[in-house]
Amino acid sequence: MQNRRDFLKTATLAAIGSGLAVNGLLASESGPSLFNINKRGAKAKMQLRAFPYELKLAHVFTVASYSRSTTPDVQVELEYDGIVGYGEASMPPYLQKELGTVESVMAFLNRVAEVIGQFDDPFKMEEILTYIDGMDEGNAAAKTAVDIALHDLVGKLLGAPWYKIWGFDKEKAPSTTFTIGIDTPDVVRQKTRECADRFNILKVKLGRDNDKEMIETIRSVTNLPIAIDANQGWKDRQYALDMILWLKEKGIVMIEQPMPKTQIDDIAWVTEHSPLPVFADESVQRLKDVAALKGVFSGINIKLMKCTGLREAHKMMTLARALGMRVMIGCMTETSCACSAAAQLSPAVDFADLDGNLLIANDRFRGMEVVKGKITIPDLPGIGVVKL
Ligand SMILES: [Mg+2]
Repeated sequence: MQNRRDFLKTATLAAIGSGLAVNGLLASESGPSLFNINKRGAKAKMQLRAFPYELKLAHVFTVASYSRSTTPDVQVELEYDGIVGYGEASMPPYLQKELGTVESVMAFLNRVAEVIGQFDDPFKMEEILTYIDGMDEGNAAAKTAVDIALHDLVGKLLGAPWYKIWGFDKEKAPSTTFTIGIDTPDVVRQKTRECADRFNILKVKLGRDNDKEMIETIRSVTNLPIAIDANQGWKDRQYALDMILWLKEKGIVMIEQPMPKTQIDDIAWVTEHSPLPVFADESVQRLKDVAALKGVFSGINIKLMKCTGLREAHKMMTLARALGMRVMIGCMTETSCACSAAAQLSPAVDFADLDGNLLIANDRFRGMEVVKGKITIPDLPGIGVVKL
């Protein structure tokens, strides 16, 4: 009768003998250790590279008070034993305070590059990412880039996509919302017509004085369900509730951040009286924020760039569910790298707003795709991307 150690040795030899692509099935001094030792029996080292990559927007992007045509972004590659995991930090200028700039992100990632080699086992993700989180109070987007790259690397070492590792059914991935930008009625009608056949649910940013006109304009073209993001734009709770009641009659299905994050009691009152689910966006950043939002919002919008990545996003999702709250997943303007990472979590959400990669003209990756409006996750290991 073989003991476990002998069995693993035999299995290893059988695997090598049959030419199976199994990484490092060799025993270490401390007992059988799968995956963390390379095929040559030597310990590999992780190496991190980062470089700025300015995203070119396919169309000029307009929110509330400004327009822009590029987004600052940093791309990350984490190499271990010849395998490369890809990651990304996207820093839209209106979130510069939270997410940083190209300079601050590069400075943080250069510090990470100096220390990442001290971890010889990429599978110790908790230990590695907790250490990196502790290097600085902020820098969420830079931390996210490392988190995504590490998930991509570990998924590739395991030969499995993360939706599978987490136990999700990728057929349950929802349709993504697609944002119709604020513009003149003629342009809004035209854009809505272009999108109506490609998407199953639209997203509209409100919180200005022409909110009803914007909705009526879209409704003159399509009856598709609409998600609303008020971006903290409504300041009076009765006004916010009246708007929500009016929107309900117009086929709107959810409301994101109706009021300023400082007006917690007002938001809780609106949520209590709202016939539509109310989601937090500006009111939530990381795991530590979630519990206090029970009773204030119906659900939370999780964005990788704000919450330091997939590891924390998965925990936020689990906590929100345990609190009886709903979950949506969102994104920034970003390449298919970060969007595909977020898509791995999408089978477990109520709403997904993963249109960031559709907005740029210089994507570096092919990954998640939108097919007939639905998020489609490829059967590729890690975060599911191929570099173009
Ligand atoms: Mg939002």
